Order: sequence, then C-alpha cells, then structure tokens
Amino acid sequence: MDKLLAEVDQEIVEIVSNDLSRQQDCLMLIPSENYASRAVMEIQGSILANKYAEGYPGERYYNGCEFMDGVESLAIERAKSLFGAEHVNVQPHAGTQANMAVYHALLEPGDTIMAMALSHGGHLSHGDKVNFSGRYYNVVPYGVDADTERIDMEVVAGLASQHRPKMIVVGATAYPRQFDFSEWKEIADSVGAYLLADIAHIAGLIAGGVHPNPVPYSDAVTTTTHKTLRGPRGAMIMCKSEHADKIDRAVFPGLQGGPFLHTIAARAVAFKEASEPEFKTYQEQIVKNAKVLAERLMENGFRLVSGGTENHLMLLDLTAKYEKLSGRQAADHLEDAGIIVNKNSIPFDRRKPRTTSGIRLGTPMVTTRGMQEDEMRTIADFITEVLENRLKGSVKRKIREKVTEFCAQFPIYEYLK
Ligand SMILES: *Cc1c(COP(=O)(O)O)cnc(C)c1O
Repeated sequence: MDKLLAEVDQEIVEIVSNDLSRQQDCLMLIPSENYASRAVMEIQGSILANKYAEGYPGERYYNGCEFMDGVESLAIERAKSLFGAEHVNVQPHAGTQANMAVYHALLEPGDTIMAMALSHGGHLSHGDKVNFSGRYYNVVPYGVDADTERIDMEVVAGLASQHRPKMIVVGATAYPRQFDFSEWKEIADSVGAYLLADIAHIAGLIAGGVHPNPVPYSDAVTTTTHKTLRGPRGAMIMCKSEHADKIDRAVFPGLQGGPFLHTIAARAVAFKEASEPEFKTYQEQIVKNAKVLAERLMENGFRLVSGGTENHLMLLDLTAKYEKLSGRQAADHLEDAGIIVNKNSIPFDRRKPRTTSGIRLGTPMVTTRGMQEDEMRTIADFITEVLENRLKGSVKRKIREKVTEFCAQFPIYEYLK
C-alpha cells in the first residue's frame, strides 16, 4: 500500500515524465488548455478520491460523508461569490455533462432551441447532430455574418421570433469576440425563451473581471473549470434559484452517480486562487498577449477571422496566405517545431472538419508561464517561419531547438523535476 508510484509502475512514470518534458519544452497554444497549479494537482491525488457521496451536502445516500459535505459546500460558496450566482452545482464531470443537465432540466425532447453552429465556433454539446443535443432537440443554428465574421444580433433576433425556441444557448469554443449578454437576454425575453450561457472558454476572463459576466442575465450558466479558469478538469452549473431543484436532480440522479470529491475539492482550491488579485492580473495579461500575438501575425501577412481578437483566442485563416495548406497540415508542421495548436474550421470553411482551413491559437498557457508581449511577438515570428518553411525539415528542426531554449526561460512545474 505504501509504495511510491515509481516502485509500482515504471511504465506510467515514464509516460508522465515524457509528457512533462513536452509541456515544458513546447509552446502550448491550445486555448482550451492550461497548467493547473501545484495546489490544484495535489488535492486531486488525495484521499478524497476514495469516498462515495451520492447526493448533495446534508442529504447523502452514503454514510460517512460529514467531511465531504464541507468540501462541496466550500466549492459551492466560493463559486457563488466568484460569479455572483444564486445557486451552483459543482458535480458535473465535464462541460458536456453540465450542458446535458441543463437541457434535461429545462427542456423536453423535441423542443426547439437555438445555438451557435459548430462550424461557426459553437460547441458540439450545444446542438450538433452527432451529439445528444442534436439528436434529442430541434436545433435552429445561428452563425456569424459572412462579411464581419461576427454574430449579427439582428439575425439572431429574427431567427428567435421566427422559430420561438424554448431556450437560446449563447457561448462558443472558437469565437474571438465578446458577447453582450444583456442583448441576448433581451432577445430571449422577447420570445419567452430560457437563456443558457456556456462560458467554458472564458470563465477565467469573467472571474478576473476582464469580460462581461452573463450570470445576472441567464437562467443557467455552464462552465468547465480547466480552461482559462485554470482549475482541475471538471465543470459546474450556475443558475437562478427557481431552477435549482430541477438542475440538481438532472445532474444527480438524472445523469451521474457519485460525484468526484477530489476534483470538487480541487475546484474549491481553484476558485480560491481565482479570487486573488494575481488572478485578475493573469487574466488581463492573457488578453493583452492575445492582442499582441494577433497583431504580429497580421503584420506577418496572416488573415485572422473577424480581423483580430477580444479574448484569449484567435482563428487563423490559412487559405488567405497559402491556398493549398490545410489546418491539419499546418498544425502538424508546427508540432514538428514544438508549437502545439489545433486545427479548426473557419466560418464558411470549404474543407471538412477533419482537415479544415484554419488553426486556433490561445494564450492561457504561455501566460501562465509568465510570458508577456515581447514573447508573443517572438512566438508569432516562430509560427510564421515554420509555415513559410514548412517543407524544409532542417528549418523546422532549427526552430524546434530555438523553441526549447525559449521555453527554458519560462520553467513550469520545477518541483516535479
Ligand atoms: C470545452 C467546452 C465544453 C465542454 O467540454 P468537455 O470536454 O465536455 O469538458 C462545453 N462548451 C464549450 C463552449 C466548450 O468550449
């Protein structure tokens, strides 16, 4: 029982050590990822993982939950004060489950909803046809305008009055612009629809006060806790008190059994970290960094969807610069040089989702490492040099070395080495 991991399982130790090197030596620009703090990681590997606690604080189906109630209540109270929410459920295992719970709580199968199309930046779990959401609900998708590549609120209002959805979902996974949630609330109210805001990507920006908060305007708000919020993998739902019982019942026993108390405790720790002044500074820097990265890429001749970014991410349209280069190929070339991004469809993409014409870049991880504006310009130039010389293995290898040296100046997880 008391052996170290290294004594029990060398194979796993080796894999983890390899990925630690990768996380240290590469430029991680996937906007949905982050480096969680040592404190957040420590609690996830704790004895709390051993306990079953089906139910909610004060009403568990198992005995021996007196301390578990404390953990979950702390997480709930901290989330409430961080976002100003009336009610919080911290049990969803992931963002998709959180959305599923809201759909189950507020809708009946067959109901009409409006959500952003996946191909325009929406999330799979909002209404895509391969997902539960698209299979069980009648989804009216909205997208971005072909010229501005931004959501046109008049079009959204028109669709709402034409289709009279029972719920409107606002939120995205690849949209570089801000949402004005008060306008969404107005449209939802005008047709008697519920408003669900999914802030998975931007929760940290909201908690840090650099992006508007949808909580006052929404019936429910879902979020993951592992993206800009920089907590453990997991999710939560915030909602108005009137929906509290329905939403709690949809999560448990509707969709899940026992909650993961070790990650709920880690969520509590992350919420505490997010309430500190340094977290606000961190979030401000994420946005400043994204702006500079975007500007430099545009100076280097790239076209960004919607002409830039107001948040932590940007979508780079490769076709404008390299007709033949797909998002998939570009992401692979960049990985050869130690720069990790993901391929992503751009609005009105003529390539398929597995190929795409774009890549998506974000600054949460490089900002966690302490990189600032100057470093963003260097990163943009690395990206440009790789894509310009993408067929030259020697150039990619040379940049790979430069990237490793560059990353060494911004160490991460030193205590693990
Ligand atoms: C990441 C994301 C989710 C949920 O993702 P999971 O992988 O299920 O945790 C949900 N909505 C949006 C908008 C997201 O970006």
